[in-house]
Amino acid sequence: MLYLDNSATTQIHPEVFDAMLPYLKEEYGNPSSKYYSLSENAKNATETARDQIANLLCCRTDEVIFTSGATESNNMIIKGIYDHYHSRGNHIITTSTEHPSVLETIKYLVSKGCSATYLEVDLFGRINIDQLNQMVLTNNPLLVSTIWGNNEIGSLNDIELIGKICADNKVFFHSDATQAFGKINIDLSQLNINFLSCSAHKIHGPKGIGACIIKKRLGTKTKLTPLLHGGGQENEYRSGTLSVHNIVGFGKAAEIAKKKLFTNIEKIRKLEQLLVKELESHFSEQIVFNNDKVNKISGIISVRFKGVNNELLIKKIASSAAVSTGSACSSAKPSHVLTSIGLSTEEIRETIRISLSSLNTEEDVYKFIKLLLS
Ligand code: PMP
Repeated sequence: MLYLDNSATTQIHPEVFDAMLPYLKEEYGNPSSKYYSLSENAKNATETARDQIANLLCCRTDEVIFTSGATESNNMIIKGIYDHYHSRGNHIITTSTEHPSVLETIKYLVSKGCSATYLEVDLFGRINIDQLNQMVLTNNPLLVSTIWGNNEIGSLNDIELIGKICADNKVFFHSDATQAFGKINIDLSQLNINFLSCSAHKIHGPKGIGACIIKKRLGTKTKLTPLLHGGGQENEYRSGTLSVHNIVGFGKAAEIAKKKLFTNIEKIRKLEQLLVKELESHFSEQIVFNNDKVNKISGIISVRFKGVNNELLIKKIASSAAVSTGSACSSAKPSHVLTSIGLSTEEIRETIRISLSSLNTEEDVYKFIKLLLS
């Protein structure tokens, strides 16, 4: 299978698989148990993974809180802040191009009395910074939540500037970095971010494991109402027995992503250039790119084949290649991201997303073009 749907999920890296196996077989201890070696081994393995993830993001190890994935992280942070701090203010600022796990969480809070502003986005889905400034000044929000890199068109928001605006106005800032994580250089020690969400399966790790990064403030724990109450694991933020094998896999994937970050960025950028060149040379007048060419996550391409139904196109090549109409999370409805950047329903129905990873090759690009031409 020619796999070109890496924004939906990625293949597990062979080294990740090897690292996980012992924790599915002989090393089955519960890291919260005490004293005996099986539990100590499990505890050490989860702490190594925490270090590997902290190292990728340049944050403190004790700021990494394991969850079941970015959907849970987004829910936990947004609901947790609102629940704990809403006496300080009940307004949330976000954008219309967020992932459904942010949009639906905020919609739920609005049904409970919260108010929300959805910032306008430009042609490539980036937020309007002037409008953000204005809204922060006039609405005195509790939280700003913006996606870092978009899952359908790859555009990157100016997280440094958004963080500065939030910090200057003492507003909490959360970013859903699920797509940007491991694909761009993220240095949380240099940024004003309070909360970040990420997920292992977008970086060649296993599914069902992710993290919230909850930054300390002046060296102390940032309080938040937990989503899951129970035994108090994860520094009381997230109860539940840790999924050790998944955490080990997540850590290994983060370690590889860190080690290969710049090599992979360059490799994927070149593959994208080749793909774009090939598409342009074979389909010149028939295609339009929805994504920006710069300031985006490398490897995510959103392209419209004029007059061609995207589902028919995808089905035609489905036995040999995997691409998507857009986000895997909301494939039934026309994409809200593409709608937000001004595409008509008809144009959305002509759009496919091709997303590359470091495991793709030039040969994959040529094979894909051949399939489209067949
Ligand atoms: N946010 C974004 C931007 C995503 O792309 C995804 C996955 N499609 C998620 C959140 C949800 O991640 P998970 O699958 O780990 O719940």
